[in-house]
Amino acid sequence: MPLNEVIFMMSGDMQKRMALARHLVEEGCVKKYVIYRTPEEGYFAVITRYVVVGERSEYLVGWDVEMGRSVCCTCKDYLVNVLFGDLTACKHMLAVELAVKEEKTDVFYLTPDEYRQIRNGFLNLDV
Ligand SMILES: [Zn+2]
Repeated sequence: MPLNEVIFMMSGDMQKRMALARHLVEEGCVKKYVIYRTPEEGYFAVITRYVVVGERSEYLVGWDVEMGRSVCCTCKDYLVNVLFGDLTACKHMLAVELAVKEEKTDVFYLTPDEYRQIRNGFLNLDV
């Protein structure tokens, strides 16, 4: 469904989230992590992850490559109002969709070890 049709269907809550998402995109808060492996590591593969820098924290947004859209987020709004509620997306998911469509992501290239450290920070892991 085109983005403008989705916006048309949105409730007031979703319109507010879309406005906040637009602000996040314009502030350059959407980061794209491209994780690469070197040929020396045996093979070359690339994984892409999206992170949105919020006011209090950073949030990892799940992205479905085939559908070309956000599918989940690590924020509390996603948990409460999307997963357990009746909204379709949090502002971070909408921000990633806008930023990808408009090519406004801030791209970082990371080694698997660098990505592992970031991942562990999200998960509060010490491994
Ligand atoms: Zn979120």
